[in-house]
Amino acid sequence: MTAQIIDGRAVAARMKQELAAQVCEMKQRHDGLTPGLAVVLVGEDPASQVYVRNKKLACESVGFRSTSHTLPAATTQDELLALIAQLNADPMVNGILVQLPLPSAINEQMVINAIDPLKDVDGFHPVNIGCQSIGLASLAPCTPSGCMILIEEVEKDLSGKKALVVGRSNIVGKPMASMLLKANCTVTMAHSRTRNLPEECAQADIIIAALGRPAFLRGAWIKEGAIVIDVGINRVTNEETGKSQLVGDVAFDEALPHVGAITPVPGGVGPMTIACLMQNTLKATKMQNGWA
Ligand code: NDP
Repeated sequence: MTAQIIDGRAVAARMKQELAAQVCEMKQRHDGLTPGLAVVLVGEDPASQVYVRNKKLACESVGFRSTSHTLPAATTQDELLALIAQLNADPMVNGILVQLPLPSAINEQMVINAIDPLKDVDGFHPVNIGCQSIGLASLAPCTPSGCMILIEEVEKDLSGKKALVVGRSNIVGKPMASMLLKANCTVTMAHSRTRNLPEECAQADIIIAALGRPAFLRGAWIKEGAIVIDVGINRVTNEETGKSQLVGDVAFDEALPHVGAITPVPGGVGPMTIACLMQNTLKATKMQNGWA
């Protein structure tokens, strides 16, 4: 079987082009109205700095305004909450993104809860999670939204398909399962206590791997022709070259002969997460103006 490699970079580029056109139109129709994203980074985690930089570049590419708020690692929870309150009240800010993880002295959930749900472009606020799970208008979490778009690139009708989500985090696994259910899949969720993961994989038409374990899902577990979406981003050292590289949660080379379609790492889900963040920021702007 020749597997289709789903090119997340190309799909994300197409989405950003479409968003840029919509932003242009919004500016023309509404007196220069420009969506604005505020990105908050606390501390100096190098990976977070890269993510924040990429989000800023993506904002520029679609014509958004973006502001960065870089705070020292010693920032207190009250100081961060004060900044969130200020951004909530700022009409020039349509989306607020607080880069996670936060330093351990800060309660992440309290910070997420403090963001105005209408500006919660990460889709992590309990109001958005609740609305999304019962099918009301909401800002949905970016990574699972991106995965849905990639699945629909290769399969439009998901009705009745058996989907397996490996991982049950609040930001990926749980909302992913809820989106697949909404698309009429029969959904199974696996986690670290799942008894026989290979057996679960063997039954799935669609597998979403989001467990954060390098190359954990083996090729031989996968049903012939399955669609495999690899969310994992794991930095490992290549044994042959000694160089550091990114790998997913699926043993890609092993999986290739079995799958119908698969996302690579890097270049699969990662670019889609940022494209969906841009999409959410535009949607948030429309919602705040009563247009969505
Ligand atoms: P979490 O660590 O929050 O959750 C991991 C989940 O995997 C948990 O539910 C855990 O189960 C489950 N798990 C761990 N080990 C196993 C196992 N052996 N078998 C079955 N399930 C297992 O991770 P996230 O959801 O935040 O992220 C998952 C991966 O996705 C990471 O590699 C992360 O870097 C990546 N990621 C990528 C993004 C992108 O844009 N591409 C965005 C977000 C994340 P339990 O609940 O029982 O502990």
